[in-house]
Amino acid sequence: MTDGTAVNDFHGLRALVTGGASGIGRATAELLAARGASVAVLDLDPSTVDKPLRGYTADVSDDASVRTAVAAAVADLGGLDVLVNNAGIGAQGTVEDNDDDHWHRVLDVNVLGIVRTTRAALPHLRESAHAAIVNTCSIAATAGLPQRALYSASKGAVYSLTLAMAADHVREGIRVNCVNPGTVDTPWVGRLLDAAPDPAAERAALAARQPTGRLVTADEVAGAVAYLAGPLSGATTGTALAVDGGMQGLRLRPA
Ligand code: NAD
Repeated sequence: MTDGTAVNDFHGLRALVTGGASGIGRATAELLAARGASVAVLDLDPSTVDKPLRGYTADVSDDASVRTAVAAAVADLGGLDVLVNNAGIGAQGTVEDNDDDHWHRVLDVNVLGIVRTTRAALPHLRESAHAAIVNTCSIAATAGLPQRALYSASKGAVYSLTLAMAADHVREGIRVNCVNPGTVDTPWVGRLLDAAPDPAAERAALAARQPTGRLVTADEVAGAVAYLAGPLSGATTGTALAVDGGMQGLRLRPA
């Protein structure tokens, strides 16, 4: 029985968010901090990160830089309870449009980046009584989107990796879940829209394609990440939470 006031309280918990200087990661880091967590942001360029967030420079495609940054962050935070593996890059096109180097690059960041930060964080998470990992996946993992072969393959791997990690670490008390965002209004999507001949028209067309008629906000994804990272989701592991305005699940009739 609850009194109806239960919230995910992060006071006393320590969190590390990769790709936390922008977009979904930034919103997540700020939300966790607002709910009481001590939060470290790991990013290529954390110079825009303000207090109370703490910024650490690292490239998730470089194992040495990840190990150095995670060690420094954990030392400053005094331990680690929550790891949000969010850093990622996009890629467009079919299998014919990207050469092997580009495939390796995107998989290196989007998939191996998670492997590297998780490997560095696990010894510390094992010391926590509330350990949780949340990976930023995408509806591209399961939706069959056109012109997204490489990106979709990378997020499909993130989804499988989430399930495998959840199985490997459940007996250690470490929960692992992912969020599957749809089209989120972040600087990344802004850059894609800006490259279109008519960004405003492209934005309106993109919004019209969403069942909700608008893009998802970074704060809405952050809310889902915070749910999966916090004590209220203590019985949830090995799941993907869609935050996609209904894109994946709904089959609307044409208007
Ligand atoms: P963003 O570009 O606004 O932010 C990404 C952040 O990750 C940046 O701060 C960037 O510096 C950092 N980053 C990129 N490569 C890195 C690396 N090698 N090492 C360390 N940091 C790195 O993007 P976003 O839209 O907030 O996307 C964040 C995550 O959400 C990504 O994993 C992306 O695949 C996923 N996602 C985004 C959308 C969307 O529509 N925006 C949809 C589904 C999933």
